[in-house]
Amino acid sequence: MTAVSIFPAATVLGYPRIGPNRELKKALDAHWSGAISEQQLLEDARALQDRTVNRLVELGLNAADSSIPADFALYDQVLDTTAALGALPSRFADLAGGDGAVSTAASFVLARGSGERPPLEMTKWFDTNYHFLVPEIGPETPFTAVAHQLADTIRRHRANGAVLRPVLVGPVTYLLLAKAEDGAPAGFDPLDRIDDAVAAYAGILGQLAAAGAEWVQLDEPGLVTDKGGALAAPGGLVERVYRTLAGIPRAAVAGPAAGNPAAGNPAAGRPALLVTTGYGTAGNPGAPGEALAVLAAAGVEAVHADLVRGQLPSARVLAGLGSTAFLAGIVDGRNVWRNRLTASLKVLQNLQDSAGTVVSVGTATSLQHVPHDVDAEDALPAHLPQWLAFADQKVQEVGVLARGLAGGRAAVTAELQEAEDALRDRATYQGVVVPAVRSRVRGLSEDDFTRGPAEQRAALQQEHLKLPVLPTTTIGSFPQTGEVRRARAAVRSGSIGAAEYDRFLKDEIARVVQLQEDLGLDVLVHGEPERNDMVQYFAENLDGFAATSQGWVQSYGSRCTRPSILWGDVVRPAPITVPWTTYAQSLTERPLKGMLTGPVTILAWSFVRDDQPLGDTARQVALALRDEIADLEAAGTGIIQVDEPALRELLPLRASDQNAYLDWSVQSFRLATSGVRDSTQIHTHLCYSEFGEVIAAIDGLDADVTSIEAARSRLEVVADLAGFGFRRGIGPGVYDIHSPRVPSHAEVAALIDTALAGIPVSQLWINPDCGLKTRGYEETVQSLRHVVAAARAARASLAVNA
Ligand code: GLN
Ligand code: ZN
Repeated sequence: MTAVSIFPAATVLGYPRIGPNRELKKALDAHWSGAISEQQLLEDARALQDRTVNRLVELGLNAADSSIPADFALYDQVLDTTAALGALPSRFADLAGGDGAVSTAASFVLARGSGERPPLEMTKWFDTNYHFLVPEIGPETPFTAVAHQLADTIRRHRANGAVLRPVLVGPVTYLLLAKAEDGAPAGFDPLDRIDDAVAAYAGILGQLAAAGAEWVQLDEPGLVTDKGGALAAPGGLVERVYRTLAGIPRAAVAGPAAGNPAAGNPAAGRPALLVTTGYGTAGNPGAPGEALAVLAAAGVEAVHADLVRGQLPSARVLAGLGSTAFLAGIVDGRNVWRNRLTASLKVLQNLQDSAGTVVSVGTATSLQHVPHDVDAEDALPAHLPQWLAFADQKVQEVGVLARGLAGGRAAVTAELQEAEDALRDRATYQGVVVPAVRSRVRGLSEDDFTRGPAEQRAALQQEHLKLPVLPTTTIGSFPQTGEVRRARAAVRSGSIGAAEYDRFLKDEIARVVQLQEDLGLDVLVHGEPERNDMVQYFAENLDGFAATSQGWVQSYGSRCTRPSILWGDVVRPAPITVPWTTYAQSLTERPLKGMLTGPVTILAWSFVRDDQPLGDTARQVALALRDEIADLEAAGTGIIQVDEPALRELLPLRASDQNAYLDWSVQSFRLATSGVRDSTQIHTHLCYSEFGEVIAAIDGLDADVTSIEAARSRLEVVADLAGFGFRRGIGPGVYDIHSPRVPSHAEVAALIDTALAGIPVSQLWINPDCGLKTRGYEETVQSLRHVVAAARAARASLAVNA
């Protein structure tokens, strides 16, 4: 038998893993809480896999031709690649099985830690809100080929007649995403281990071929970043890596799918290789497609490009792909809008005309970033569903485009027409364009983005607020107890009325205000008990947004979020936070901070409209917030915090795109916050400690006080601040709220000393790292007690020294 490598005509790079009813999420949580065994968890997961395969077939993919990806990570696809490579950091070395394999139980220890052993770090996957587990690679990290679970999955489906396409993070991206293990010599770069990693990948390819895989998908989105892109130049590392992998002889195709698992021959060769490059343009953006040519020249059988975020490969590149198939990622994997099918089909036909090779139709990225199925929604406003495509609809769109590409427009007339009608309806629907909003945005001038000089503001604010030095505050939310969540669920289901819920929230606010007074905090908050989520809460109270009922997407592990859909111009029909904030302020003499979520974060954690630039949408949200801030100020609120934890998350992957982003994002914050008097104090809060790369932008926000996460890194950020010469108020977190641990008085005191060594006392605020909503009361109260006491002690010793 000779190896054939016909790439399927239609495919998706990945599909939501959590299940249409969050079956996997529930099974994982049940397993971790001890309610179900590992065996039960794996059985549930396999049942879900089978339903997924059946569903994808129902939606038009072919189970026999490798068009269905075996994308079934229990927790995270990067973690699964770590497991397949046996690449255990030394602090987990004891978890390795006999041949170096990483069991399911072991992988959960990497993901979640155990006892004193901290888990792998988590960070955002490219510029998305999905978090992956960061590989830690040192000079001695083992690389072995132990893809047993993945091979078993392929084998199991093969026995059922389905030839799935296993998916792994590719070797270059895997090492680009890795961090150097603690204790690695200075200058060590995980990429130094590329040859060892490639040898292990070669072994894995053999294991997958032996299990019956005919194609393997290696995801290389790392090539769309500046660092990875440079590696994809002709003659570079990417070319070398893929020459090696493609140089392995192809396995003989195992023959008819059913009942031929091509029994475990380790010298089985390799499956055909598909290399994907989602989330942008791979390689050199000045030479679009060059990276694909490099991969094709190296001998890879199929290459993929993201045609939604990335650029079209040039005709020259396409013509030169030779026998390498081209998978056109033309259906968006990250947003929820219906595809403009007619336009897409034209693009595909042009590609087909310039390419010397087969063009297949696919998604730009995995569909893991969108919910399962529009048809499952029962709460969306009636006009919306027909404008949308969640994962299931996107699979169908891929199928329609593939049929259109093969058979011409005539083969899909009805589908194209339906899409055209929906798009026309969307373009003209009332609320998509609100003339008053448009003219207000057009009429903005420089003044609307500027406040008085910061020093002058600081003096005026101090006159009003009369705060002590080293003022203490929190970031906004207080623990969301079971009682709070139950009350919210009760009002949603109608089992308690609005008035009763209102009373409940007021009692909760009163309790939290009293607690803060007892603790001796200087600037109080109302505690945010009315908010399920810092973005959804605002989306629910602004026109132009819609909330889904089933639209869950995986954030990390079993954690899912339900982003709102921003479909129209943004209007604030009524004040949102004013009643809660003024009620809270009425209970105390101390200043109480109003709390809002900023425009960039609201966009980052919603599905945003794709019919206008993001910066325009951000300005509309900013204006709604500006009105809210004006109402808060008019109601007597002297301090208002606008949280922007997602400011860095949306930072474009390419340095050349970053300035334009920072410009509109910073401007939208300033538009929201610049309408107040100079005596009103604007705070902002950011959720990360690697501050250095965006410090100029944070300075540009022109907030009077900025609180940031800093405790875990032991206030590393202080050096950045001092180096930059940051002049406004700053509150580096001195209490790590990501764990239930209570920091001692001495520990907090030491962090305050560290801060004081680099930050002038007149600028320093004392606060936790982030909101307290995920914490319990007991640890929160003890920790805050230590924070307040340490701040007071620091004040006293400053007074003595003065
Ligand atoms: N004010 C929000 C809170 O305290 C901020 C949350 C965040 O930064 N993610 O919960
Ligand atoms: Zn935070």
